[in-house]
Amino acid sequence: MSTQSDTIVDIQGLNKWFGALHVLKNVDLTVGSGTRVVVCGPSGSGKSTLIRCINGLETYQQGTLRLAGTMLGLNARETAAARRQTGMVFQSFNLFPHLTVLSNCTLALRRVAGRSRAEAEDIAMAHLEKVRIPEKAKSYPGQLSGGQQQRVAIARALCLNPRIMLFDEPTSALDPEMIKEVLDVMVALARDGMTMVCVTHEMGFAREVADQVVFMDGGCILDSASSRDFFGSAGHPRSRLFLEKIL
Ligand code: ADP
Ligand code: MG
Repeated sequence: MSTQSDTIVDIQGLNKWFGALHVLKNVDLTVGSGTRVVVCGPSGSGKSTLIRCINGLETYQQGTLRLAGTMLGLNARETAAARRQTGMVFQSFNLFPHLTVLSNCTLALRRVAGRSRAEAEDIAMAHLEKVRIPEKAKSYPGQLSGGQQQRVAIARALCLNPRIMLFDEPTSALDPEMIKEVLDVMVALARDGMTMVCVTHEMGFAREVADQVVFMDGGCILDSASSRDFFGSAGHPRSRLFLEKIL
């Protein structure tokens, strides 16, 4: 049983609509500090919407969502502070094309965290080393492969020292030979104890690092189990059917 202080995400009875479309239906999810949750499920099931709610990119209409102890959406200043505890990595990298790799990483450190150029560059280089791409610091995103860009996006998110990293299908846009280099970085992050919520269909990754696997369909969490149970015989029939299709 987790206590308030070691629960980073606490979602109870979350409901969200886009107009008439009910996209999240009574979603409950808690993410403890230092744990890894993998979210999977068919396209359109609400995975991105859920992860976007967690970092405050989307609002919701019913239920409660606490991030790092703050109820999102009640108070603008507190919500903004809680959002800064998250790092987000998207399928499409979302690097600034006109900035070098280093400047992509230092931008928020300088503008949001108020670091000097020298401090920001030291922090950024340390994270670029962690994702094994320091030699590209002076390159522009367009000069990098997809796998390299995604590793930079991960380094950029890490620069602000988030308490939780959110990944939305980080390898789905990559050629197969680049998937591993990104997953290797994510596995290393998990081993370092980073709290992570990852939307992914990389089930090898899920088996290796997930403490909990969540299966969504039609806006509902249909199955939520330890990785061992999820991939074992105890899984929900609907998630087993899904696994059979993608594995
Ligand atoms: P997933 O990530 O599992 O593929 P999404 O969360 O992206 O699913 O989408 C869930 C449902 O919400 C889909 O039917 C999608 O078309 C719809 N949807 C997503 N974003 C919006 C939006 N901004 N406006 C209206 N409908 C949306
Ligand atoms: Mg999605």
